[in-house]
Amino acid sequence: MNPNCLTCEVLSGKRRAPGGTIFQDALWEVGSVLAPVLVPGYLIVNLRRHCEDLKDLTPDEAAALGSVLRTTCAAIHRVLAPPRIHVASYGEAIRHIHFHVIPRHAGMPPGSLGTELYIRWRRLLYRMGRKAIAVGNAAEIVAQIQDAFDRIR
Ligand SMILES: [Zn+2]
Repeated sequence: MNPNCLTCEVLSGKRRAPGGTIFQDALWEVGSVLAPVLVPGYLIVNLRRHCEDLKDLTPDEAAALGSVLRTTCAAIHRVLAPPRIHVASYGEAIRHIHFHVIPRHAGMPPGSLGTELYIRWRRLLYRMGRKAIAVGNAAEIVAQIQDAFDRIR
């Protein structure tokens, strides 16, 4: 654990995302993005240990990653059926290896730039006082995805 890492805070339980943990094994953990949830079903796949570069994954971590991402996307699709699901890893603001798994809903513009701009626009509206998804609703969606995740695995 790194004391200056937001992802390590989530993994240690210091911060809790709406709905809690969807999946956890020795290597990876899946849960909702932290509140405010700006896109329903927006999940984060976190590496359980603090590591900052994909080239430094162990062979076991690398081998398990595909299955975790596939199951995460399948569970989101089963519950929300978005036209597309975006998966991205940036590692800029938060270095700890994590993947954004973002359903691109029908009302959102297609393409990664469109999704990025949509999220920034929603964040701006949130800061201006508009509601994001209520935490209770976000947690309910996460519970549905967790149920689908468990059925798929
Ligand atoms: Zn960390």
